[in-house]
Amino acid sequence: MSKIIAINAGSSSLKFQLFEMPEEKVITKGIVERIGLPDSIFSITVDGEKKKIVTDIPDHSVAVNLLLEKLTEYKIINSLEEIEGIGHRVVHGGEIFTDSAVITDEVLAQIEQLSELAPLHNPANATGIKAFREVLPNVPAVAVFDTAFHQTMPESSYLYSLPYDYYKEYGIRKYGFHGTSHKYVSERAAELLKRPLEQLRLISCHLGNGASITAIEGGKSIDTTMGFTPLEGLTMGTRSGSLDPALIPYLMEKTNSTADEVLEILNKKSGMLGVSGFSSDLRDIEDEAAKGNARAELALSKFSDGIHKYIGSYAAKMNGVDAIIFTAGIGENSAEIRARVLRGLEFMGVYWDQEANNVRGEEKFVNHPYSPVKVIIIPTDEEVMIARDVVRLTNKVYA
Ligand code: ADP
Repeated sequence: MSKIIAINAGSSSLKFQLFEMPEEKVITKGIVERIGLPDSIFSITVDGEKKKIVTDIPDHSVAVNLLLEKLTEYKIINSLEEIEGIGHRVVHGGEIFTDSAVITDEVLAQIEQLSELAPLHNPANATGIKAFREVLPNVPAVAVFDTAFHQTMPESSYLYSLPYDYYKEYGIRKYGFHGTSHKYVSERAAELLKRPLEQLRLISCHLGNGASITAIEGGKSIDTTMGFTPLEGLTMGTRSGSLDPALIPYLMEKTNSTADEVLEILNKKSGMLGVSGFSSDLRDIEDEAAKGNARAELALSKFSDGIHKYIGSYAAKMNGVDAIIFTAGIGENSAEIRARVLRGLEFMGVYWDQEANNVRGEEKFVNHPYSPVKVIIIPTDEEVMIARDVVRLTNKVYA
């Protein structure tokens, strides 16, 4: 038995989950928020009860020190030596990382170099890694990349139809994101279907604030909707998803904005927020649509129509599909969105059960038993994947 901690560090936050492995039992979890700002907040679950401390936490290493101090103070662990591995979520692994990696000086340097591709995320992830290295220098750490799962895509999927040299010179290609989640649900789907993953064609729909769909053939990502950045693909909470790139200079001129300002609009003010005009949160939009708000209705249609179309295109790509998976905040919880997406897929063998679909956050089949294509809701668990990779890559063998 050993304790492994999974870390997701953002620029001003640090989420953690402590696991007992190999049982995969969550011992505690929590978040440090507002790092670097006055009145930072540290929250942690102790014996099922949430504790909250408000104090100034100037940087990530103070956050890590406080976290480790509280783990022993609250007797969640007896000593820091019980922590045998640390797993860090890292957003961008570029073309370097096709799998998770044990963090060495070289790996850390590569993660920092990849900041060019993920300027908002990789520096924050690296800060989290360095903070733990300072405090627990002898505990092995593993980086788990959001992009790694998609490195199996064929060139025809990841290449943009641009002059080929741009790919070679600047690394311009589709990378894809949410890989840890797509991988988790595909492995879980194979277990639930009681069939080898190698024989399955899956379409995994990760629908949260950020949303992406992946075509998974034989356990490998062969195409995904997010691209060079997470902006491509589906309409999302605040992101536009794919659009005609000629709109960017046009918008710059019309609104007298810089390219960065337009990009900010496409990332933060578009998607369901832009279309509805009042919220990016699906619950608000569903409530308003039910009251007859036409723009809310339009946002729901835009979102679900995009998903519906990608499912059709990925089924075509794999010459069929064995199961469609729904996961993340919306995929797990919204019966309404799932229904809108699934309606009109009978032509490809999707027969789903309205009553079975009426659930929230449960692992469940929602297809009719006779449906050739299965439809499964699978709550995602990126943290357990991180903990598993720490165990796998640090060669822990349990008796
Ligand atoms: P992310 O991790 O990308 O920030 P989540 O996976 O937490 O996002 O998903 C957030 C989305 O899930 C929000 O749009 C939210 O409205 C939606 N959501 C959460 N619970 C429900 C629910 N019960 N019904 C409908 N939508 C829900």
